Amino acid sequence: MINYGKQSIDQSDIDAVTSVLLSDFLTQGPVVGRFEQALCDYTGAAYAVACSNGTAALHLACLALGVSTGDRVWTVSNTFVASANCALYCGADVEFVDIDPDTFNLSVDLLAAKLEAAAKVGRLPKVLIVVHFAGESCDMKAVSLLANAYEIKVIEDAAHALGGSYLNEKVGRCRFADLTVFSFHPVKSITSAEGGAIVTNDASLYERAKCFASHGIEKRPDHFISPSTNRFYYEQQLLGYNYRLSDVHAALGFSQLKRLDSFILRREEIARLYREQLRGLDLRFQQLSDVAKSAFHLCTFVLDKSLRDRRDDFVNLMWKSNIAVGCHYIPVHTQPYYVSALGKSFSLPATQDFYSRCVSLPIYPSLSQSEQLSVCEVVRKSLQSLL
Ligand SMILES: *Cc1c(COP(=O)(O)O)cnc(C)c1O
Repeated sequence: MINYGKQSIDQSDIDAVTSVLLSDFLTQGPVVGRFEQALCDYTGAAYAVACSNGTAALHLACLALGVSTGDRVWTVSNTFVASANCALYCGADVEFVDIDPDTFNLSVDLLAAKLEAAAKVGRLPKVLIVVHFAGESCDMKAVSLLANAYEIKVIEDAAHALGGSYLNEKVGRCRFADLTVFSFHPVKSITSAEGGAIVTNDASLYERAKCFASHGIEKRPDHFISPSTNRFYYEQQLLGYNYRLSDVHAALGFSQLKRLDSFILRREEIARLYREQLRGLDLRFQQLSDVAKSAFHLCTFVLDKSLRDRRDDFVNLMWKSNIAVGCHYIPVHTQPYYVSALGKSFSLPATQDFYSRCVSLPIYPSLSQSEQLSVCEVVRKSLQSLL
């Protein structure tokens, strides 16, 4: 079975993990800090907080920005549920902005219109979470102009986009966002098994995120509320969580980060081959921007409108040939929890239309050229048998 994503582990990764296992610290040792510094060096951001997974990173980003009950957080529905759940964890309300049918990313025009309408009735969001779908950056310059005009904070959910860039800077540089969030789940650009991180240029957001990630506990004497000279003393200053990354996981992430650029190059080659081989068929790939470079986390296309009702048949044919294509994403707002627990309905026609036709092809660094060509062959045959 060829899956849509898969990790690439080599001997250097195994050696890195083994050396931590044989060291004095399995967690809260020196490796997490090294990994955080490497993430800063790679992205160009000033600060990084490594944490237990991408979902925890999203939650920490919301906590750092002070999202709480009664606040509104906007995101897209064409994403993994975690992009929206993080706001609900904080007691906020979630609303969704529809996507652009060509880029499959948040539509800046619809965002502008929704902000204008919300401003009129005093229902502006506190935070906007943009998702760089499939690793292709949103138009962050335009997003940040709107965010500044309406005084809202921006989190980039870059779970797909580590290794990608925008306006010649790495995603995570945080030039157009307050915080950027990454995931190191095995299907993502690099993996630490479970793992995630936040990067930011804002010292106070960094301090808050770091504190929330470790129970809200402060250990630095010069930051105590009640000064103490006792060596054992620490203070809980916030209601935090244990969202720390272990040194074992950080060792894997740190080792993988060294090969990130080569992973992205491999992904790009695969995406190029698919686009060339499948040209002229009844499908359309994600439109890529001239000012961004995708991290090619997913290789997603939409079937022609005429095949809307045949998407599931197409996917089943692919799976029958042992190619486990994906459908990213089941719109978050249609999940039973969102429909019944939140008791709200949303009108997101572009997201719905996209979902009815989207297919994600296998893409990961170790996918061989013969596997790629056989994926293309099965796509062609499956499309033919639908006609
Ligand atoms: C994978 C993913 C997450 C969550 O990351 P985990 O590390 O699995 O918690 C969040 N948002 C998006 C868009 C993702 O793809």
